[in-house]
Order: sequence, then structure tokens, then C-alpha cells
Amino acid sequence: MRCCLIAVLLIALAGLTPADDDEPGAPGRLIVAPNPISAYSICKILAGPEYAGRLTGHPGYTAAARWAADQFRLWGLEPAFPGGYLQPFPAPHTVLEAAEAVLYLPGATPEAPEREVRLEPNKDYLPLSFSDSGDHTAGMVFAGWGIAAPELGYDDYAGIDPKGKFVLCFRGTPDPADDRFTDHDQHRTRLRTARERGALGLVYIYEQPQMNTNGDWLAGFTPAEISYAVADKILAARSTTAKDLRDDLRRYRRPLSFDLPGRLRLRVVSRHVPDSQGYNIAAFIPGADPALRDECVIVGAHFDGCGPHLGFIYPGANDNASGSAVVMELARTMSLWPNKPRRTVIFVLFGAEETGLQGSHTFAAGLPYGMRQAAAMINIDMAGAGDGAWCGYSAALLPVVEAADAEVGLIRNKRAITRVGVRSSDFAPFFQLGIPCVSLSSTGPHLAYHEPGDTIYRINPEILGAMARLTGGIAARLADGDAVQPVP
Ligand SMILES: [Zn+2]
Repeated sequence: MRCCLIAVLLIALAGLTPADDDEPGAPGRLIVAPNPISAYSICKILAGPEYAGRLTGHPGYTAAARWAADQFRLWGLEPAFPGGYLQPFPAPHTVLEAAEAVLYLPGATPEAPEREVRLEPNKDYLPLSFSDSGDHTAGMVFAGWGIAAPELGYDDYAGIDPKGKFVLCFRGTPDPADDRFTDHDQHRTRLRTARERGALGLVYIYEQPQMNTNGDWLAGFTPAEISYAVADKILAARSTTAKDLRDDLRRYRRPLSFDLPGRLRLRVVSRHVPDSQGYNIAAFIPGADPALRDECVIVGAHFDGCGPHLGFIYPGANDNASGSAVVMELARTMSLWPNKPRRTVIFVLFGAEETGLQGSHTFAAGLPYGMRQAAAMINIDMAGAGDGAWCGYSAALLPVVEAADAEVGLIRNKRAITRVGVRSSDFAPFFQLGIPCVSLSSTGPHLAYHEPGDTIYRINPEILGAMARLTGGIAARLADGDAVQPVP
């Protein structure tokens, strides 16, 4: 009785929630539930101006990483690395300081003067964030998907000469179901392909420009994006539109490349820092069961965003201060559990997801940090918008996901992860190592993705809290359950 009374008091004072002992796989203990307002406060701090959009390698990222490490320390979590909570890795970065883009298009008749169309950053165009400085006025060629794959009998560059010009293309492949094109769809492959053929820059045609940090700074190369609306102005003289061209490329699965009328002036002033460092930030709660504590459950989210460019900050509140806040709020609350989980739970905030998953690859390559093995990995990427969850899962974890969701009722769509594509998140390196994974997102709409408008004002504390409860329910079951079968 006295016991019960104390439990009731604890619940009243500290927000403890008793879990249902009878439910299979339930933690069967008092738990401290994640608090939506606390998660929101963390998200707001991370998306704040002092961290400047958390571009990996940038001083704003490093300051945010130190702040997160301090929180882990204050909450009493153990540091995951021999040197503390931070795991450094090389992370060169580039900041765009100024840019200017102007189209010079032929007049309606041969006698008519050239038309000058000035483009507006973020609305009409953006340099890719790792562009070198340069000022070029040059002709343009259209090169389909920008893919040269002679081994597959496919070459968007056949019959065109990109030397000294800008290469315009779409992102994607002739056949999304054909895995043989996957490597060619990597930004780095496409950029290198254009540069090797003497192009001044690759210009992606995107429906709407979004900041893109996934690529390498290449000396003398000024890659960029333009909107469909701007591409339509260029393509008008060819009596087609960006949408029609893209549809045709998909329908016929054959190269469709040609010279474009007019010229593009692209001026970029950027600052490249080749020797900067990125950090993963990680802490753990040691497992309480001596037989299981050297197995770990990894709960992770990418901490990085797109940074400050052209006088704008890309705050990355939804992508992915929100997922980072879920991980941190779970670390805070699980550290308050009166009884510790049986397996060790590692909370990790990854750097350099946006630049190509370098942080999670670094972390996964260094496993197990004294752990015998990783029992499972849960990834959260965008958790602050919408009213439900999307879930990718390794088949072995489906029962755990369903049991956790039975308490929250949040998952609207779910699909087994069967392969890792070019648009993956930080679960990918773990999945490739054979570790069972769950990847969660809120349903969105994820408006302002990679735009200056991805601010804290778009974040809904309710969905953030619900995502934390779902993630916590999955993590608790994986950390406590007998049924988790680590992949050897
Ligand atoms: Zn993301």
C-alpha cells in the first residue's frame, strides 16, 4: 500500500506514467513520458539563429554540438566516446556569400534585341552550397538526367558538347526501378561527370530551388539549380517545357539532349574551408541486465542542416532539429527511469547527413564502442509537421513497431526497408551492416524543406511529443525484450 502511495506521488510530482505490466513486450515499469513542450524547447534552441542552420564543419554547428553534449552531461548520461560526447571527423564546408544569375535569351525575331532576365535567389535559382567562386557567362546544353553510363548503353552526353558551357539536367534516372543506375544518380557522380567533360557547372532543374549541400567543392566549378518556371523560359524557343521533357525522358527511357538558345551568367562568391571538422554527439544509458548490456539499441537523428548562405539562414527546424529534439528528449526522460533498460541505449546526433551520411558512416564503422553488437537502430528524420507518422522497418522489427504504435496510434503508412537508395537517411549505414532498423518521419506536409522558411514557427509540439512517445515505445521494447535477435 505504502509502495503504491509512493508510486502515485511520484506519478503526480514527476509526470511518471505507469506502463501496463500485462501487455506483451511492455516495459513493465514506471516510465517518465517525453514532454512535448520540453521537446519543442530543444527544437527551438537548435533552430535558433546562433547555430546558423547547423552546417557540418561551420562554427554554428560546432557550437550546437557542444550545447547538446552539455545537455547530455547535465542529464547524467554516459559519454559514448573515449574522449567524451563528441566524435570528430573531417568535414570540409563551403558558405555562399553572394551570387547573381542573369539569363540572356534571344528576342522573338532575329532582329529583336536579346532579352535579359534577372533571377532571384531561393525563388528562381540557387548555387549548390559547395560551389566554388566564379563569374561566367556561357551557353547552355540540356543533358537529360546528366548520366553517362556506356556500360548500360545509356549516355546523355552523346552528341552534345558541354565544354565551356552550363549543363542543364534533371535529378533522377531513366528507370527508377533499375538499380544499375543508382550510383549514377548520386550528386557526386553527376557533378564529376559534367566537370570531366569540361562543363563550367551543372544546373539542376528542380520544381522549386532547395538548398543542396550534398556534394564536394570542385575548383573552378559552379553548380546550381533553377526552377521549372525559369527552365520553361529557356525551353520556350524549343517549344517544350520542363515538365514535358521530364515526362518524355521517363516515357521513352532514351537520351534527349540538345543545345539551348541564349546564355547564362552565374556569379558566385563563396568561402571554402577545406580543413574543418564535423562531430557526432552521443551518450548512453548502460544496460541493467549483465547478460544483455553489451548489446545496444541506437536511437539517432541527424543534427545538421544546410547552414547560412547568401545572407539567409536555413534553420532546419523540421529537418532535422525536430528529430534531434526527439532523440534528446528521450535521452533526458529515459535517464530518469527508476529502473534502467536491460540493454544499453545509445542516443546519437549525427553530423553530415545532408552532405552524404558521412557522420553515420563514421559512427557505424566504429561500432561497438565497447558494445558486443547493435541490436537495432531507430532513426528519426523530420518529426515536427503533420498529424501522423511514416515508418520504414526491417521485417524482424515489425511486431515491436506495431506493439509500440498500439499505444500511440500514430503510424499512417509503413513499408519494409529492402534496400538503400540514394535518398536514404542515417539508418542506411546500419542497415548495410545487417542491423535491423526502423526509420520514422512525421507525415508532413514538410513545406519549406531546405528553405529559409523551415523555422520553428512550422513546428507543432503535439506531433513532436507523439513522435517521441512512439520512438520511446519502440526503443523501450527493443531494449527490454527477450525477442530481439541481434544479427550476428
Ligand atoms: Zn533530414
